[in-house]
Amino acid sequence: MANDQTDRVVDVLIVGAGNAAFCAAHAARDRGASVLMVEKTPAAETGGNSFYTAGAFRVTHDGVHGLRPYLNETTVARLDTTELSAYPAETFIADMRRLTEGHNDDAMTDRLVSDSADLVAWLAEHGITWRLMYERQSYQRDGRDVFFGGLAVGTVDGGKGLIAQHTAHALGSGVEIRYGTAVTGLLRDDTGRVTGVLCTDAEGNRHQIRAGTVVLAAGGFEADPQRRKDHLGEGWERALVRGSPANTGEVLDAALAVGADRFGDWASCHSVQWDANASPSGGNRELTNQLTRQSYPIGIVVNNRGNRFIDEGADYRNYTYAKYGREILRQPEGIAFQLFDATTRPLLRTEEYDSSPITMAEADTLEDLAAKLGIDPDGLVRTVREFNGSIEDRPFEPAVKDNRVAKVDPPKSNWAMALATPPFYGYAVSCGITFTFGGLRVAVDNAQVLDTEGERIPGLYAAGELVGGLFSGNYPGGTGLTAGAVFGRAAGAAAAAESAAN
Ligand SMILES: Cc1cc2nc3c(=O)[nH]c(=O)nc-3n(C[C@H](O)[C@H](O)[C@H](O)COP(=O)(O)OP(=O)(O)OC[C@H]3O[C@@H](n4cnc5c(N)ncnc54)[C@H](O)[C@@H]3O)c2cc1C
Repeated sequence: MANDQTDRVVDVLIVGAGNAAFCAAHAARDRGASVLMVEKTPAAETGGNSFYTAGAFRVTHDGVHGLRPYLNETTVARLDTTELSAYPAETFIADMRRLTEGHNDDAMTDRLVSDSADLVAWLAEHGITWRLMYERQSYQRDGRDVFFGGLAVGTVDGGKGLIAQHTAHALGSGVEIRYGTAVTGLLRDDTGRVTGVLCTDAEGNRHQIRAGTVVLAAGGFEADPQRRKDHLGEGWERALVRGSPANTGEVLDAALAVGADRFGDWASCHSVQWDANASPSGGNRELTNQLTRQSYPIGIVVNNRGNRFIDEGADYRNYTYAKYGREILRQPEGIAFQLFDATTRPLLRTEEYDSSPITMAEADTLEDLAAKLGIDPDGLVRTVREFNGSIEDRPFEPAVKDNRVAKVDPPKSNWAMALATPPFYGYAVSCGITFTFGGLRVAVDNAQVLDTEGERIPGLYAAGELVGGLFSGNYPGGTGLTAGAVFGRAAGAAAAAESAAN
């Protein structure tokens, strides 16, 4: 039977145990605060969406030179044959503006970008190990590995490694983590200061935990079909959840209930092309990001009528992938097929396209491929004939925008290769939702939650997916982990300082 208990006081209480939460925990511990993390899932299912990631962080850098001290031995051994352009602050800012069509908050973006510069070093001091992501973010050219699209740095062992290393460092520094405990509300005193949380443990016991300050880092509402339908619109209840099933938005609601302001684009989200037979309700902890299909820029994507509907080569994958999930949701049956032939198949990301199980077919003719996948064969043959006949013959170079255009409707602006050499390969994809873009409004200087009057709510901070203002409609790959780390670090430091002052 449920009963009520009041627990001890801690300086900083952090809600969640994903990347943003751990960054807040490290920053608060660095300032001497006692830290308790309260996480909804059991330890065996922990890490939030951060666990499922590739561990890719978008940070500013000056090329391999500045990154070298933080990279693992395997990467350092390859640096002499690596081409990685610098990624300066102005390019990161321009990417954010371009992709969100100016709907990003400029002050938050400036903070995100400027604080990304020392993030690799800061996280390395807090137990995170680094590599360059050759297998995902580069192509071979003349014996050299050429990176594209502003994203190169990742954690060793991806999201699994990130969470394991965060957890080890946090526990080693004296942070306590209480798993299996879901936060359901916030406690306040007579002055409006947030003084702790209400939560329910795995046995159904309700607790009040008192704290000097509280940091919310409990993710968005992407795993709740009803909230998706309410905010993103009709049809989104059918999207497949790529990551944690636990990010269901109740902590956002708890913050709104104490007067927090909404911010950012609550009507859009990050969504990608995802194996059509993946679970609807949450990611696979073994395969994690392997269920994604991200080599579409070198193929074509058709619906089950055999029609193309996106410009697969509009830009580097890192700048288009997060908006193409929603385009699939709009297609008949919410399904699409990425198609390649024997020429392009060797260029596909191995970890994704050689993954098992996988929803795909292979055939020696387009008609057979269509029959195996459930695509209208006449439509497919017509689409491919028109596509193949419209390609401007220029050199094919997957690591740069090669202007190898297919002049059809919709056009393919780069990397257009005829589907002509059997066998043909088709991969069935649906819309996989990653995370929601809307969230709370926070002060840019210290990640303190703002109320609807723009005033700081005493004792309350937020970071990660549940903060709004950075993204809308689209998103530059690798920015979610960076955003969580930048604002998590800021929130943890400020929460520790406010707790010490009270
Ligand atoms: C398959 C996949 C691949 C991705 N790859 C990348 C990538 O390579 N690079 C990148 O930048 N981004 C990537 N992303 C996006 C990235 O995961 C998020 O932007 C980032 O992890 C968000 O971190 P967070 O700490 O805000 O949230 P999370 O990591 O989701 O953590 C939220 C935590 O809060 C907990 N929680 C929820 N509700 C409660 C409650 N009521 N009480 C207590 N705890 C609660 C959850 O259980 C969870 O542990 C990927 C996402 C997915 C799903």
